[in-house]
Amino acid sequence: MEEPVKVYIRVRPPNESEITSRDYKKCTDCNDQQTLNLAYPRDTIRPFHFDGVLNEQSTESEVYDLAAKGLIDYVMQGYNSTIFVYGQTGTGKTHTMGLLKKITPKAEGIIPSLLKDIYAKEKNTIITLSFLQIYMENVYDLLKPDKKPLQVREDPSGGIFVKDLTQVPVENFTQAANLVNAGLCNRIMGSHNANQTSSRSHIVLALEIEQGNVTSRLTLVDLAGSERVGSTSSSGLRLDEAKFINSSLSALGKVISALALESLSHIPYRDSKLTRLLQPFLNGRVVLIATVSPCYKYGGETLSTLQFASRCKQV
Ligand code: ADP
Ligand code: MG
Repeated sequence: MEEPVKVYIRVRPPNESEITSRDYKKCTDCNDQQTLNLAYPRDTIRPFHFDGVLNEQSTESEVYDLAAKGLIDYVMQGYNSTIFVYGQTGTGKTHTMGLLKKITPKAEGIIPSLLKDIYAKEKNTIITLSFLQIYMENVYDLLKPDKKPLQVREDPSGGIFVKDLTQVPVENFTQAANLVNAGLCNRIMGSHNANQTSSRSHIVLALEIEQGNVTSRLTLVDLAGSERVGSTSSSGLRLDEAKFINSSLSALGKVISALALESLSHIPYRDSKLTRLLQPFLNGRVVLIATVSPCYKYGGETLSTLQFASRCKQV
């Protein structure tokens, strides 16, 4: 049987200003497809092992083929799947998901590619889309322009749902793309400037796929930036945001590692809104793509991302 959890690392290429900077130094080395060597701190080299390592040259289609494409058939067979992108702000989470630009038929990245392939394949399926944002443990509907938080409810049988969340049946790629594009414009920005759009919140796109009497769900999650926020340089709001993000990411890490171990003991779904909302859908396959920068100056964040990803699953 396939393992329930897969963990991949993607290293983004250094950008123009990093490469041309006089003190540019690399700290990552991907010498095979499953190992990333980190030379940080100083020159101590530490190997980290994952289900797959995608280096700076990796293309969007390589990432898609390795980490996402295989989930389509699985979901079409009636099982749930979830993809998370995790990492420091600026390392390529939104780029990898394909949400940095408007989605068009030519767009690359995981979400546009999944939408294209699902609609190329689907037969007698009803697909329903919902799109939400979690900012400071409040849930906002990205398919509604008003910014009122929604309530998370539990029905008498223990099922968790978001009350009044918009769920739109979508018949083709264009309809789905239009909804996602519109939803992206409804994001709350957080305390960062607008360039770092939504790096302080989690974005959750869900496709519910119904075939006959079988329903399954494919969930795509662009997580808030995992960087630690220094208490000396930050305002109250930044610090509050950081506390919510830290606690929800740490809850997520515990949940994923319990799923990877196929542990039957207590799984702490209730420790954050994100894990609570996703609980009903984490019983199938879970993919975590952790994104990192190759630059030495971000070595500390890269180390903590690799440690988080390793804790999620021992390979
Ligand atoms: P995050 O969502 O993690 O904050 P972004 O996806 O916004 O990061 O990426 C930050 C910047 O780096 C963007 O300008 C993006 O285009 C660029 N970038 C990220 N990953 C890659 C990549 N693999 N190849 C080329 N550019 C990338
Ligand atoms: Mg982003």
